[in-house]
Amino acid sequence: MTTSYRHEIVGVFGDPVDENPTIVMFEAAFKAKGLRWRYQNFHVRAADLPAAMAGLRAMRFRGINLTLPHKIEGLRYLDRITPEAGLIGAVNTVVRDGDMLIGTNTDGKGFLMALKLNANLDPSGRRVVVLGAGGAARAIAVELALAGARHITIVNRTASRGEALAQLINDKTPGKAEFVLWSGDYTLPRDADIVINATDVGLYPRIHERPRVNMDSIRPTMLVCDVVPNPPRTRFLIEAAAKGAKTLDGLGMLVYQGAIAFTIWTGQDAPVDVMRQALSEVVI
Ligand code: NDP
Repeated sequence: MTTSYRHEIVGVFGDPVDENPTIVMFEAAFKAKGLRWRYQNFHVRAADLPAAMAGLRAMRFRGINLTLPHKIEGLRYLDRITPEAGLIGAVNTVVRDGDMLIGTNTDGKGFLMALKLNANLDPSGRRVVVLGAGGAARAIAVELALAGARHITIVNRTASRGEALAQLINDKTPGKAEFVLWSGDYTLPRDADIVINATDVGLYPRIHERPRVNMDSIRPTMLVCDVVPNPPRTRFLIEAAAKGAKTLDGLGMLVYQGAIAFTIWTGQDAPVDVMRQALSEVVI
């Protein structure tokens, strides 16, 4: 009988990438499942992405996560992408199927799972406010629209990005969206059901900052969410909770987007509790 010492390789291409904690939840998940798989953080600069993607094919990695600055550029090196990733215009997860590289985007789906499983809220028919119009905001807004959200308000400092996202939702999904230019403190509409900070305001090390929102417009009927995973209890969520709102942190989204990638790669159910525990031990 021959013994194989080979591990299946997955990981993340990013720049910077050293402090990315995703490795911790995947390594814990592989161990819990008894899989001979390894996850590695690869420091890949923008100019080196073509070579890195060719290397991934040559060394037959099973897949890769793409993070900043590769989520959009990565589209060019794939054989196929899912319709949602096409709409969002970015990929965060690539799986190798034979010789084909297939790209998808699990960020928005991870948010939806956290919403349903951790906050027990179905977005169908809801009114949503998304603060920001970058990569995370696009993924979340598109998935919310596809999941039946009734109305999405996109609030962003840079008009071109915000308008483009609202237009994408109106033109390419069943959802309805409007853009609001973000200047000064934004007052939330009274009838908003879900409010999401999809900017990086509050992310470590700038933990004392929070998005410019009129906090008196937060109501107990609202679910206030943050995509920032580190720290999970952002200043925004702490102050929203003090106004009586329910809150949902960015750790759940991070765990579930990883859990979806785990299943895409391995074909197995993800050990979500193990992944969450491993991550919560390394965030501040
Ligand atoms: P991008 O750079 O693509 O977008 C950043 C967005 O934040 C832009 O809309 C930008 O506005 C806005 N923004 C930045 N600073 C401010 C500010 N001071 N005031 C108002 N708006 C501001 O970043 P990403 O979308 O990729 O990432 C955003 C956050 O999402 C990060 O914290 C990241 O960690 C988190 N994230 C979390 C995930 C999870 O699983 N929990 C998954 C993916 C991302 P403008 O257009 O005007 O510049």
